[in-house]
Formats: sequence, structure tokens, C-alpha cells
Amino acid sequence: MAHAHLEVEETAARSVLMPQDGPPVTRYTLNPYMGCGMGCAYCYVMKYHYAVEHPLPWGAWVQPKTNAPYLLGRARDKIWGRRIFVGSATDPYQYVERQYRLTRRCLGVLEDSNPKDVVVHTRSHLVLDDAKLLRTFKSPLRVCFSIPTDDDRVRRKLEPHAPRIHVRLNTMRRLKSMGIHVTAAVAPLLHCEPARFAGLLKDAADDVYTGSMRYTDKTGLQTTGRARAYFESARYRDLVAETDRCLDAAGLKTNRDDERDFGSR
Ligand code: SF4
Repeated sequence: MAHAHLEVEETAARSVLMPQDGPPVTRYTLNPYMGCGMGCAYCYVMKYHYAVEHPLPWGAWVQPKTNAPYLLGRARDKIWGRRIFVGSATDPYQYVERQYRLTRRCLGVLEDSNPKDVVVHTRSHLVLDDAKLLRTFKSPLRVCFSIPTDDDRVRRKLEPHAPRIHVRLNTMRRLKSMGIHVTAAVAPLLHCEPARFAGLLKDAADDVYTGSMRYTDKTGLQTTGRARAYFESARYRDLVAETDRCLDAAGLKTNRDDERDFGSR
């Protein structure tokens, strides 16, 4: 559901690779956009200083880093042998990607720079535009596809401008059928029907990363008292446990430290 009034502000970035550990650095995040048109209500990025200081609300603006592929090309020596996580603070396949193709061009640079492996994190069907590139990528690559619920009513409330649930499931199935490794990112878990959800993910993903909603000063929903009460309730803890059980029963549950370290968005 594209945003009707998205402010697009082209920007020239100073750098595009952010070290995640080290020294020595073994992992970098890469975000071709700043801000995000998906506007998820729980997104921790809305608490970053540049989002807090932006005059528009979270989800109403995006800044394409128009020089991102160029900067990345100049940083090839950093990429060699390192792990790269694309989309830690934005969705790399949000709708403006059709106009700018920054993610596609950055992936092209990555492919020629011999990273150890690449994770592309998205919740958008636009990732299919690059399916051929992803399928034939020279280094190990997987798509970490965000799908925190099976219920589109929940999606409408908490991820108002993100693709519908059935669109995401279809996208995941198509990626998987092409031989692209798909990790379902169920993080943070939202209200769902656990057995049904696990059954849907079994078809659509190779494995699953899960995480529950954890309130910190970075949680976007913190100001919503009712939401906080739900996510801190025994009812929610039961839902998390039941979902874990159903995913295990479906032979799917996998927790991966690398996603956990990058947080859930
Ligand atoms: S959670 Fe991801 S897709 Fe949603 S607004 Fe934040 S960065 Fe965008």
C-alpha cells in the first residue's frame, strides 16, 4: 500500500557502510535510503536522531542517497571478505526503489567486491524486480523477508504502507522456488494465528528468525499505553511461546545471531 503523501528528498550521503563490530570489522550495514515510506508503527529507526529531528512524521519521508553506489564503489576494499546486511534502517525495496534503483546498483557493486555473504532485508514484493541478480549473485546471499503476522488486519494497523500479507507470502514462495534462500523474519511477532502462520511459512521460507516485541526507549510504540500493555501481558508471552511451538513442529524455527545483533525492524 504505497504512501499517498511521501516526501522524497534526494540527498548526498557521506558514507553508506556502517561497521557493526570490530576492530577488526567483520560486518557492515548498508542502507541506500534514509527514512522509510513503509511507516511501521513499531520501527526503532524512528527514534534515531535524524528521524526525531525531521519535521515530518516517521513514514512520511524518504531520502534516496543518490551517491550510494558511487560511495560503495570507492569502498570496495572494505567489502572484501566482510558480511554485509542490506536494509538495517530502511526498506531497500520500498516503492521509490522503482524510481531510483539504488539498491539494485549497490548490489551490483557488492557482487563485484567479493563479500563473505550478503543478507537483504525487506518486506516488499519489489525484491522480485531483482530476482535474477539475487539468484545468480556470486557470493552467498539470502533474503530475510519480514512478515511479523499472518493477519492483514494487524498489518493494516501497524504497517499501514507495507505490502499485504498475501503479497508477501507469494513473493517469498516465488523467491524460494527460484532457489533463493528465504529467511522469514517474524520479528517482532505481532498478533497471529500460530498454527496457521507456521503452516504458511513452511511453504514460503527455508527457515525462520523470530523475536518478540521488547520495549526500550527505542520502541516506536512506547507512547501507546494500550499497545504496551498488550505486548507486556501474559497473553502476548503465551502467543510467543505458542508460535515458537508451532514453528518448531513445522520444522522451521531457527534463531540466527546475525539478525538478532542487527535488531528487528
Ligand atoms: S520497520 Fe523497516 S520497513 Fe518498517 S518503517 Fe522501519 S525500516 Fe521501514
